[in-house]
Order: sequence, then C-alpha cells, then structure tokens
Amino acid sequence: MPIAYVDLHTHTTASDGTCTPSENVKLAAEAGLAALAITDHDTFGGLAEAIEAGKELGIEVVPGVEISTAWEGQDIHILGYYMEWGGERMQSRLAGLRDVRAKRNVRLAERLRQLDIAITVADVERLAQANGATGSVGRPHFAEWLVQHGYCTDMGEAFDKYLGTNGTAYVQVDRISPFEAIDFIHESGGAAVVAHPGLYDADELVERLIQHGVDGIEVAHADHTSEQELHYREMAEQGNVVVTAGSDFHGYRDGVVFHAPLGSRRTSLDVVRELERKARGYRDSSSL
Ligand SMILES: [Zn+2]
Ligand SMILES: [Zn+2]
Repeated sequence: MPIAYVDLHTHTTASDGTCTPSENVKLAAEAGLAALAITDHDTFGGLAEAIEAGKELGIEVVPGVEISTAWEGQDIHILGYYMEWGGERMQSRLAGLRDVRAKRNVRLAERLRQLDIAITVADVERLAQANGATGSVGRPHFAEWLVQHGYCTDMGEAFDKYLGTNGTAYVQVDRISPFEAIDFIHESGGAAVVAHPGLYDADELVERLIQHGVDGIEVAHADHTSEQELHYREMAEQGNVVVTAGSDFHGYRDGVVFHAPLGSRRTSLDVVRELERKARGYRDSSSL
C-alpha cells in the first residue's frame, strides 16, 4: 500500500495566509496528500470551511492552531492539534491571545512611523482584507505593505530590516509563555508540538519543553536546514516525542510562494494517528 502523507502546518486567510481554507484543501489534494492540518495563528476561524471542503475532496483535515508565545525576548510558536475547538471558553481564550496581537500591531505601526514610514494599522488591514483576509492581521501583512510601497524589495528584506526579531521596528509584547501554551493545549484536550525550533536558537528551552510534556517537535520545516532537521530528529527521539513535518505554507505574495509550497514538507499519516491518540489521552484524563 502506498504511504499516505500529511502536511501538518498550513495557514489560510483566517490568519496571515493568502489562500482560503478550501483552496488549501484543494492544494493538498493536488499535492497528493491524504490529509493536512490547518494551523492558523491563534484562531480556529478557517477550520469549519476546510473540513467541509475536505469532505468533498476526500482529504482529512486535522484541526490545529499555532499559538504565539514569548520566552526571553523571542517569539516561540507552539502548535496545538485536536483541541476541543468549538466551545465558548476556547473562543474567549483565543480572543484574548488575538487581542495581544492587535496591540502589537498598533505599536509596530508606531515604530515604523518613527522610522519615517507613513503606515497605519488601518492601511495594513485594508490591504489584508483586499487580499481576502478574514481574521487577524499579522507581520506578513505589514511586510506586504512595505514591499508594495517600495520600502523593501521583498518579504525577506521586510523581516530582516524591520519586522523580524532583529529588525528596527520589532516590538515585544506580553505574550503567554510556551509552557502556558502547552498547558492550555493539554487542558483543551489537544496535543502540543514545538513549531520550527530551528528558528529560535534556544535548544535549552526546547529540552525544557520536552521535560514539561510537549508531545512533539516539528522536525521538518520549510526554513530548517538538513543539519537542523537531523539535530531536532535526534532531540525528539531522545526525548521520546513525536516527529512532525510542516511546510508552514502561507499562500502566495506577489506571485511568490511565502515560506514553502503546501505539501513540500510531509510525513506519514501514522503521525496524525499518534497525535490523535495523545490528544485523546489528555481528554480522558481531564474528564476524570
Ligand atoms: Zn510559526
Ligand atoms: Zn506557521
């Protein structure tokens, strides 16, 4: 039997991707995947549409979210899979996280204006909405605006120069810690995975997250080198946690794929079953 594959990390117009949830599902089918996860930033807003599209196209949609956290001045992303995502309590907790993002956006625009760039959050929101965004505005939308208005030549430069951790407009906000995010995911009956550890330069933290009970590490990611992939695979195996893979697909900007094409990082469907099994374990224990 051929191996069935899954891409466990994709964004849609519900956060800062440029493809609708249905388009992501269609791309997954075209890439020959059996399943894909929708992991928008701090929202489940794209999930219902994706699941519907998945039923039509015979693609399994894994419910996911990517939670923004902070640790010692760095942005750390934690992926949550199979959380009980429909409830009201969940909605209000995620709304709280998005609120932090909204405040960050205001301060980011302020910093850019101090650098003589005439930008407002409303400008960025308008651009995002014109491109189909239905949810929270993120840094890629800011980057897109900077490129369109000639301040940068491409998305990469926008992050290096202004928006990334070492950029001149970078703002730190009061986010939850990665440890809190893992607890939140487990309390919500989900499995937690450290997203793209190769982007942090914080291996000590990754070790501590494993000790804290994180369920997996995103070993294969669009921005990881093959050395990093090997390194984190070893770390995951030593820590006895699940090895996952994701493209971090964000759609297309100016005709160029942002991060990597959907399905370009993939792993066996067995990994999905393993995450599901772990999530079920948290649900069973929380209902005791
Ligand atoms: Zn991320
Ligand atoms: Zn992502």
